Amino acid sequence: MSDCIFCKIINKEIPSQIVYEDDEIIAFKDVNPQSPVHILVIPKEHIESLNDINSNHSDLIGNIFITIKNIAEELGIDEEGYRVVNNCGEFGGQTVSHIHFHILGGRKFSWPPG
Ligand code: C5P
Repeated sequence: MSDCIFCKIINKEIPSQIVYEDDEIIAFKDVNPQSPVHILVIPKEHIESLNDINSNHSDLIGNIFITIKNIAEELGIDEEGYRVVNNCGEFGGQTVSHIHFHILGGRKFSWPPG
């Protein structure tokens, strides 16, 4: 999608601090971090939101979660714990229409979310 900011990050049209990349997934530091560790993990395929995944995406979504686990280990937040967030749609607080998973770590989080 030519007007999608995350597709532009994938295509290196705008800069980002990439922490992981393979053929189908890219992970980069959030530009407005909400915690000491704040990484976004996204598929390279332009999928707008969680509402748009189907059984064809099973391997991709599984690989995203394995990537999340690996990044948490590499960044040293796995033992103390961390939060994985997907905001879906307006009420979920989604602001970028390219599915993404936040890895938030380095501090303790409260529940319920705001
Ligand atoms: O879940 P939500 O859609 O609200 O999250 C979008 C996230 O993308 C925000 O945390 C925002 O800081 C991040 N972002 C980014 N780089 C951009 C644009 C947005 O890291 N160029």
